[in-house]
Amino acid sequence: MRKVEYENHGVPLEDYQLTHSDHRRQKQHEVSSQSIARQVEEDLAKCRADPERAERRRVCFENAWKLMQSFKKPDHEIMRWRVRLYCGHIAETRRHREVTTLTGHSPTSMTCPECGKDPSKIVAFEPIGLAGEPPPPPEPVAAPVPPPKKPTRAQLERRVAALEKENQRLRALGHAEL
Ligand SMILES: [Zn+2]
Repeated sequence: MRKVEYENHGVPLEDYQLTHSDHRRQKQHEVSSQSIARQVEEDLAKCRADPERAERRRVCFENAWKLMQSFKKPDHEIMRWRVRLYCGHIAETRRHREVTTLTGHSPTSMTCPECGKDPSKIVAFEPIGLAGEPPPPPEPVAAPVPPPKKPTRAQLERRVAALEKENQRLRALGHAEL
């Protein structure tokens, strides 16, 4: 597996002090989440008014969910991160192992599992380890089994002679029975 260098920010998380830009980013994020929530709400209202639209929407979500499941990564491809959220709580989140930092990647906020603040920006973070052990390396390939030796001409001749003898014996038996 490719070696990955992980970043951390604001460690130790317990002592992290919020900065001006943390407050600003949290605010911006809340505003954009609210506008998304409004769009979803409008869409839901349309679906309530139009059952056919609602059904199309349901199938669409179901397919997207199935697709996401098919992309699910095994645990050893997942990095666990300990994060401090804007609300001050410390939580854990996961990213693909090749994601090396939690800034600049979206989403860099989450719902706080402690107080339920949603969204709560990730303001500090540190990697804590892969979610699973990588599988053991494949067994060394056993030396190929040498092909059976070809019988020598002399062996073949002996074999043919033996078969002929057997043939004769059987024929003799057949005659005796007649
Ligand atoms: Zn919280």
